[in-house]
Amino acid sequence: MTNTEPAPGAAKKAPARKTTAQQAAEQAPAVIEVRNPGTGAVVGTVPEMSADDVAAKVRELRLFQPEWEAIGPNGRKEWLLKLQDWLIDNTDTIADVVQSETGKPRVDSLIDPAFATDLLGYYARRAAKFLADDHPSPHSPLARVKKLTTAYKPYPVVGVITPWNFPLAMPALDVFPALAAGAAVILKPSEVTPLSALEMARGWAEIGAPPVFAVVTGAAATGAAVIENADYVQFTGSTATGRKIAVACAERMVPYSLELGGKDPAIVLADADVDRAAHGIAFGGMFNSGQVCISVERVYVEAPVYDEFVAKLTANVKALRQGIDGRESKHEVGALANENQTTIVQRHVDEAVAAGAKVLTGGKRAGFGTAFEPTVLVDVDHTMSCVTEETFGPTLPVMKVADEAEAVRLANDSIYGLSATVWTGDKERGERIARQLNAGAVNINDVFVNLFSFALPMGGWGQSGVGARWGGANGVRKYCRQQAITTPLLPTQEKELFWFPYKMPKLLFAVAAMRAAGARGLRRIDLPAVLKLKGDNK
Ligand code: NAD
Repeated sequence: MTNTEPAPGAAKKAPARKTTAQQAAEQAPAVIEVRNPGTGAVVGTVPEMSADDVAAKVRELRLFQPEWEAIGPNGRKEWLLKLQDWLIDNTDTIADVVQSETGKPRVDSLIDPAFATDLLGYYARRAAKFLADDHPSPHSPLARVKKLTTAYKPYPVVGVITPWNFPLAMPALDVFPALAAGAAVILKPSEVTPLSALEMARGWAEIGAPPVFAVVTGAAATGAAVIENADYVQFTGSTATGRKIAVACAERMVPYSLELGGKDPAIVLADADVDRAAHGIAFGGMFNSGQVCISVERVYVEAPVYDEFVAKLTANVKALRQGIDGRESKHEVGALANENQTTIVQRHVDEAVAAGAKVLTGGKRAGFGTAFEPTVLVDVDHTMSCVTEETFGPTLPVMKVADEAEAVRLANDSIYGLSATVWTGDKERGERIARQLNAGAVNINDVFVNLFSFALPMGGWGQSGVGARWGGANGVRKYCRQQAITTPLLPTQEKELFWFPYKMPKLLFAVAAMRAAGARGLRRIDLPAVLKLKGDNK
């Protein structure tokens, strides 16, 4: 018996009558309020879409996808470049929306549409080249009788699920190459920042493009429905959610790619330009309030330059102006995306301080909305959550190391492997160290630039991801199934050598030819065996 069942013999209560208003409220779709985290003001509402809503959208996308695929990469280029024009023409409005739902500074809000514009041009213009058939060389002279082709055929519907940190740029990273590949795309943006993604959908509709791109709004259940209906899932978000996505995709046997969390190390060597390192790491740690998957999240500094670096970094971080911008740029740092983020950042700082760390600047809430002060921590180590867990906020814990070897060992002491930076006056040394780091990307004497280099792969190792945004040709081919086609080059006979009925001499001849072509030297052909069987089994 469950505890909701009445006890045996108990009188059954008549269910309470619902008022018309209650009934209407139950039938009305749930609504999500979107707030500016810097001010707390409601800036929009979106429906919490149900599994049925998502399934219906995907059915619609499936109807139009074949035509989208059929117009080819050059036909799609026209539409993608029209969207690029739209993004340029509407940049200020889009930045307003990004700013309103994130509490970012104006400059950061303008980066979202600028990044999306650049990326769109890259894939729109190159997709024809990237999707052209490949004709690989046969591996053996025997295979030269065939033309070999690898063809790229898009998954019909790609599901894209994104986080809140770059509400337009994050979707762009995956939606644009998938559309360029010829897939239809269903996008489920974060419930924290759905409005910017809806701007992208508005643009797609306003240019009159074929209905092969749709945005569905909602939280985890809506995301789960996307996985239930898509043919390929591209997920960006936390490692914990990524694990659930992988399980759900495995249940349906649909392929997926996961872009997850990170804890990126920066290594500052004694031969580095300390001024540049202190500026670069301040930017790498505090840009977008530290809410970048590839933010610098921990710093290892060689002992000889430790004091100088810490003093310069602290001065740079202290100088940052924090607040809520209008259309004018007045601040470098704004609010955090939501209260949950602020709680995590505060916990990491508090736990570190309780364990003996020192706060050199920041360390507390900034006094408006969810904002947290840009923070530099020293006397930290690998027992502290601020060094081991992803913070995704404006903290820079700095550690002194004896030498390069210790820096590499500590940098690799993490479950994550998204990206890293190395700061050195010797570029070859930088590259040598880069190759020792467990990270999907390493920038030498710089931060974030790998992300702006669309020809490069962007993917995490370890718990930072499965698969990647592969960049270049693989960036669009990822959204395609690869098909192998063989075509005869010579006139064909009635039968091939291997076909029925089996005859030993034919087999031995074929094996001998394969060995001659692929093995080392004629002596392995085993000619005596061929000759011995000559005449048998005719
Ligand atoms: P999150 O994992 O909480 O949510 C991400 C998205 O998944 C949201 O749209 C959410 O609604 C959806 N979702 C949640 N549960 C789901 C479920 N069971 N099924 C389907 N969808 C579900 O992440 P977040 O808090 O929005 O974003 C922050 C995280 O994203 C950080 O860990 C950050 O490192 C990571 N991130 C990674 C990259 C990268 O490229 N590696 C880029 C940006 C952010």
